[in-house]
Amino acid sequence: MTLSAKSQAVGKVVCVGRNYAAHARELGNEVPSSPLLFMKPASSIVWINSESDNKIVRPEVARYGDTHYEAELCIQLSADLSAATIQQAKQAIGGVTLGLDLTLRDLQSQLKDKGQPWERAKCFDGACVLADWLEVQAFDDFTQVAYQLYINDELKQDGDSALMLFPIYELLAEISHAFSLQAGDVIMTGTPSGVGILQAGDKLKLVLGTHKWQARVQ
Ligand code: ZN
Repeated sequence: MTLSAKSQAVGKVVCVGRNYAAHARELGNEVPSSPLLFMKPASSIVWINSESDNKIVRPEVARYGDTHYEAELCIQLSADLSAATIQQAKQAIGGVTLGLDLTLRDLQSQLKDKGQPWERAKCFDGACVLADWLEVQAFDDFTQVAYQLYINDELKQDGDSALMLFPIYELLAEISHAFSLQAGDVIMTGTPSGVGILQAGDKLKLVLGTHKWQARVQ
């Protein structure tokens, strides 16, 4: 059973970089000692749902370079969190789903080299793909949530929250010590290894337990 995708308006999307050691290494990054955080604006969100053939539109390759996919487990908050405890974080989870943190990787590398912020590579319209929200009750605790991304029927990313450097409850509490989170905010909890380039015509399938979402790249 799913909740309506727009049941709660999203204020901000907080993303976690390098929350899986294998992904940090594949991009040649160090494994961080505290969560690396950045944000996407609500204007970057596109919703996909399990009933339809969804579309993913990339920024024009000739102008912006390649767009990479990053499949991630996503959480929506149902309560505000400020300098929260683990217990408070646990009780504030209102919805769970999968998402794609789309990234203009060439541009991001250029920005990193210059020591500049990443917004141009992470905040474009359509950069935050979110599937329908699922009810939290189905997840019990979040210590072992497995999920997959298939492209053209080939397994590309095989994620499990057990492999996170900063597990969900700790992560939410930690973020809320950096800045306040509000009901409706979304947390993209980081991507496992296997990121790569989206090509026109690719058929994506996101799988979370018995739930599946499909999308075609334009
Ligand atoms: Zn990401």
